[in-house]
Amino acid sequence: MFKAILIERDERPYRATFASLNEGQLPAGDVTVRVDYSTLNYKDALAITGKAPVVRHFPMVPGIDFAGSVHESENASFRVGDRVLLNGWGVGEHHWGGLAQLARVKGEWLIPLPAAFTARQSMAIGTAGYTAMLCVMALERHGVTPESGEILVTGAAGGVGSVAVAVLAKLGFRVAAATGRQAEADYLKRLGAAEVLDRALFASPGKPLGKERWAGAIDVVGSHTLVNVCASMRYRGVVAACGLAGGLDFPATVAPFILRGVTLAGVDSVMCPRVDRLDAWRRLSQDLDLDKLEFLTEEIGLSQVIDRAAGFLDGRIRGRVVVDARR
Ligand code: NDP
Repeated sequence: MFKAILIERDERPYRATFASLNEGQLPAGDVTVRVDYSTLNYKDALAITGKAPVVRHFPMVPGIDFAGSVHESENASFRVGDRVLLNGWGVGEHHWGGLAQLARVKGEWLIPLPAAFTARQSMAIGTAGYTAMLCVMALERHGVTPESGEILVTGAAGGVGSVAVAVLAKLGFRVAAATGRQAEADYLKRLGAAEVLDRALFASPGKPLGKERWAGAIDVVGSHTLVNVCASMRYRGVVAACGLAGGLDFPATVAPFILRGVTLAGVDSVMCPRVDRLDAWRRLSQDLDLDKLEFLTEEIGLSQVIDRAAGFLDGRIRGRVVVDARR
């Protein structure tokens, strides 16, 4: 038997429970992993609460990330005891996920746990942190350097935002952090933000073009915020967009793109090719300060996940939540 969060929807309403399952119930896959740590991401909170149709079939074990050791393997690339990590690939959406003590997946979805991190640290980073790194790499790919000018990070006190601020600051960028929680200004400055802005500045419909300020931006909010960020980019600025915390819509004009040569770079972590994942984790190993990672992380046990998920969507979680799957 093993413990897991289980989401069901049958004749009764959508519900998540902390359940006991047996190994025979695990889905098909060629590698079974004993999960040490998982994490709570925004998408996991949507799945657990049922607030968005993240779960594609039922019953489902949520959890888009996990880290642990190989328990059984029919895949030549993995041996029992190997330390591994998984992010995305539809795990926790289409395929049983990481908020469990055991997970069975396709070996091709796994990557070796980077030597720089413990399983707990890798899950403190999780999909949110790995996506933050993909966003930083997207800015770099389009030529943004610390000399280009200031970088804006929206949703800065959340998971993606906190890791983005910490990584950008370590790389020498001047970072402005936009947040709805002014009480977290000291937290954001400790992560490396040079300035903290009120997210209300970006939240309402604005002009097609504003004052040119940012050389780069990482946006997790979408909707009017993303539109206003694009409108306030400097000539040839680059926006990495990865989130929809404020809305899925994008009520924009093309003015920033055709008059200022702004680039809007989309970032997806779920189906990101393996080579780019390995690169992002290599970069995290070198560009994320482990003391800052610990500072932005809170730990809970698997049995506390359902209670914590609700607070996530109300913007009450700061930074990252790592889940000890053994308790
Ligand atoms: P969090 O909940 O940790 O952070 C989101 C932050 O956005 C909040 O902390 C808050 O920051 C801000 N926010 C929340 N609601 C609003 C709102 N209505 N208007 C403006 N700002 C708001 O989530 P994550 O950081 O883990 O994820 C952020 C987004 O990125 C999510 O939409 C998630 O789905 C997406 N994502 C996408 C991925 C991809 O592959 N493309 C991968 C990972 C995440 P503050 O309090 O500082 O204002």
